[in-house]
Amino acid sequence: MPFIDKLKSGIPTLSFELFPPKNINGWATLYTTMAEISKLTPDYISVTYGAGGSTRSKTVDLVARIQDELGIETMAHLTCVGHSRDELRDILQTLAKAGIRNVLALRGDPPKGDSSFKPHPDGFAHASDLIGFIKGGFGLQIGCAFYPEKHMEAASIESDIAFLKLKQDQGAQFTISQLFFDNANFYRFRDKCHAAGITMPFVAGIMPVLNLNQLTRFKELSGCLIPESMVAFLSDGKPEDVARRGVDFATEQCQDLLKNGIAGIHLYSLNQSPSSARITENLRGLGHFPVTVEAPKPSKSAKP
Ligand code: FAD
Repeated sequence: MPFIDKLKSGIPTLSFELFPPKNINGWATLYTTMAEISKLTPDYISVTYGAGGSTRSKTVDLVARIQDELGIETMAHLTCVGHSRDELRDILQTLAKAGIRNVLALRGDPPKGDSSFKPHPDGFAHASDLIGFIKGGFGLQIGCAFYPEKHMEAASIESDIAFLKLKQDQGAQFTISQLFFDNANFYRFRDKCHAAGITMPFVAGIMPVLNLNQLTRFKELSGCLIPESMVAFLSDGKPEDVARRGVDFATEQCQDLLKNGIAGIHLYSLNQSPSSARITENLRGLGHFPVTVEAPKPSKSAKP
């Protein structure tokens, strides 16, 4: 069943996020990860879009390849950064021609060195504008991003929610969260969204922590809050145990979200499979994401 239909019918989806690597070693790791992830039979895999369109063709090629070779539905991320409407139209037409059915429509972050986002003179300033553009054609299902602890540039949670509502009104059909570690913040945000008339399914973006150094980076990049209790849990033991504890933490976080009606779990796998695989196995062991179909068989080799 296409994952959008699952989301609509209230069946939780399981998905993974990958990014196009920058070098040959990264591609080798990615192909191994893709093979491992395909065994986990996710509902879909999404592929990020590099800042400033730096991975433009790589994103399009990779989503098409995953779909063709692994038989797994995909979603391409797309940002407004540096693109005119004509360029965006071209990318969207290429995606549609390649048989991709889903796009995550984003504004994107300012390119390195720029302090604020500057739209292309013939482009879009906000994700909601891009969503409206996509809605007008292409036959693609549209997702968007949300920030349970507020987008870093947003004046308030309330203004962020008003713009999320605008994304829905413009045509977004589901929304995926920025990483977060405190479910209470997520539930508070979701309740406010429901009160504001946002009815699209909420998918939780979950980041398995691999080491403690990552936490400062996550905070700087996304503005997410780091609960002291999580740091204490992750630090309680040998440094080499942090990744295992990260899996335990993420498993509990997902289990709680699934009990509380989350529409889907989206694992930020960072092109690595071990933690994501263990979280998936743990959740399956707890009765979530039953495997109802045979694992898809690649039609071609998934090697570079
Ligand atoms: P918007 O919805 O446009 O929001 C940006 C800011 O503007 C917010 O503060 C919002 O409150 C405000 N705003 C929104 N609409 C309006 C309006 N009409 N008027 C005034 N203010 C407004 N980045 C990448 O470069 N590549 C990726 O592949 C990528 N994937 C992501 C996947 C997920 C699940 C998430 C959560 C983020 C991802 N990002 C990615 C990061 C994202 O591009 C940044 O967080 C970016 O800063 C905001 O994007 P947005 O789509 O939420 O923007």
